[in-house]
Amino acid sequence: MRVLKKVSVIKAEIDEIYCNKCGSKIEKDSFGNFSDHLHIEKAWGYHSDKDGQIDSFDLCEKCYNELINNFKISPYENK
Ligand SMILES: [Zn+2]
Repeated sequence: MRVLKKVSVIKAEIDEIYCNKCGSKIEKDSFGNFSDHLHIEKAWGYHSDKDGQIDSFDLCEKCYNELINNFKISPYENK
């Protein structure tokens, strides 16, 4: 038999997100879901000049579009 007790747990959750490029706030809908945006996390490995460094950033859709418009090769599949 197991006897349970109630405990309080502090949980961290993302409250706000800002675009790293333009600084604008990524808005939430009425359900608390963030507008679609790009989030990247990169842990650099041994064969880089940044071994062990972890970078992360967010881009709003406008800044994402500006970024990919400078690509020589489109990120869109089948284009
Ligand atoms: Zn932006």
